[in-house]
Amino acid sequence: MKILLIGSGGREHALAWAISASPLCDRLYIAPGNPGTAQCGENVVIDIADHQAVASFCKLRGIEFVVVGPEGPLVDGIADALSAAGIKVFGPSKAAAQLEGSKAFTKELCAQFNIPTAGFGRFSDAVSAKAYVAAQGAPIVIKADGLAAGKGVVMAETLAEADDAIEMMFAGGLGAAGAEVVIEEWMIGEEASFFALCDGTHALALASAQDHKRVGDGDTGPNTGGMGAYSPAPVMTPALEERVMVEIIRPTLAGMAERGTPFKGVLFAGLMITAQGPKLIEYNVRFGDPECEVLMPRLRSDIVPALLASCDGVLDAVDLRWSDEAALTVVLAARGYPASPEKGSVIRDVEKAEALDKVLVFHAGTKQTASDLVADGGRVLNVVGLGKSVGEAQDRAYAAVDAIDWPEGFCRRDIGWQAVKRERE
Ligand code: ATP
Repeated sequence: MKILLIGSGGREHALAWAISASPLCDRLYIAPGNPGTAQCGENVVIDIADHQAVASFCKLRGIEFVVVGPEGPLVDGIADALSAAGIKVFGPSKAAAQLEGSKAFTKELCAQFNIPTAGFGRFSDAVSAKAYVAAQGAPIVIKADGLAAGKGVVMAETLAEADDAIEMMFAGGLGAAGAEVVIEEWMIGEEASFFALCDGTHALALASAQDHKRVGDGDTGPNTGGMGAYSPAPVMTPALEERVMVEIIRPTLAGMAERGTPFKGVLFAGLMITAQGPKLIEYNVRFGDPECEVLMPRLRSDIVPALLASCDGVLDAVDLRWSDEAALTVVLAARGYPASPEKGSVIRDVEKAEALDKVLVFHAGTKQTASDLVADGGRVLNVVGLGKSVGEAQDRAYAAVDAIDWPEGFCRRDIGWQAVKRERE
């Protein structure tokens, strides 16, 4: 079968790597892709915001199945447009993608179906939002309702910080995303990510991961899209995973179906493991980036039948096998990231890293010129190591990082530190 993958990040290179290994995949196209995905299939130039253009491309090339990587096109309704054109698509409808697109939507769903999450209030004006904060007290969490590229969350330690955040959001500081504000109780615990494939009715647990959002070592500095991740997350025991399926994932699926907006695709739950048990922080409706880069290398089964089963409503017949090994990815970013990454510097010796045992390199913001591989974005490469422990995977990943010659790039040197500390205890 011919398959089209939408996206251009490290997540899409990892997906392209897994999909292209499937005997079911005769030909893989990636739109727009990157120099890494070009090693797995054919990169094509289509305007992915133009859903009719994507559908026409599929008809022209005989593409039967589309896999959507990023959230933007899903929230914009690409799955609806392709389904209407008779093309099978992995990813939720626009209505179901509200689980990521609107924090208020998800909080209301949690309230209606008893899904454990932080206590909250939602507001459309600053006066009532401030009154709520004054009544609840600090610390407290202020969130813009809509998608704000990770910038829409303010962890306010004082009432003054909370008031400033409320004013900034209602003054349009985050555009339309801040037209409504959700205010949440500040939960205490360890964070983990959990992924499940869903087909509208059934949910199939994938695996857990933990990521590092801050740019600097020791989890310092500004937030980023993610500077590294590892899987599995040691905090997620099998018993805890079962609780997450029973208390969070399955009630979400049942609730979405009951509301007439069944969820198909991958549900990525951001969790806080509190003293009372796992609680939902947020949902994303696609694979995480960089989490996908550590999930795919651990998957021992063919991913394509599972993605197709998600579309066809037959996930209950799918059983996926996972490696016992841990995977850890280190993000190499361009100097200046996240504020103003420098583009154009030359990256050498990626193949030396790839030649190392149990190492994979997934591209993100790279560009191939006639002679060189150059940096073309903020997060540029994901260097993945595999090992019997997170510590071993970490050693392999950093040995591979050190094999790459890119003076203008940088990375965190402590990815996986919590897990390695736990392993040594
Ligand atoms: P992302 O960058 O993950 O897409 P986002 O903008 O969608 O982020 P959230 O995931 O809701 O926002 O929050 C970002 C981070 O803020 C969380 O990973 C967590 O560390 C922290 N956080 C959010 N809500 C809470 C809460 N209620 N209590 C404690 N920490 C929280």
